[in-house]
Amino acid sequence: MSYDPSNVFARILRGEIPAPLLHEDDRCVAFRDVNPQAPLHALVIPKQALRGLVDAGPEDEATLGHLLLVGRNLAAKLGYPDARYVINHGAGAGQTVFHLHVHVLAGRPLAWPPG
Ligand code: AMP
Repeated sequence: MSYDPSNVFARILRGEIPAPLLHEDDRCVAFRDVNPQAPLHALVIPKQALRGLVDAGPEDEATLGHLLLVGRNLAAKLGYPDARYVINHGAGAGQTVFHLHVHVLAGRPLAWPPG
């Protein structure tokens, strides 16, 4: 399926919806989830228009790694050495916003397996 530029994260990237940024660089931004599931619940998203993980190719390897490192650094900077990094891919796995994103969750005990 093709990328829909009207998704909420694309709108945040275009500045059409406010989202105070926790981080920005040339490849990604991070901001707090509007419906936090933990004391820290941030989303790290690429600036690139990628619908989900399956749309990333070998040329996106560095970007994918970058998202994880930015998420890890953010959690550490905010005082959370332990954190969970989650990518939901596809509606059946819980994806609701179809712009690739990494959830960073921390600050409470996190059960496994996730629901
Ligand atoms: P997922 O279900 O993995 O696609 O995650 C999408 C996440 O985006 C959910 O946790 C939502 O709470 C979050 N979300 C939706 N709209 C916004 C918004 N305007 N600002 C921040 N987070 C949002």
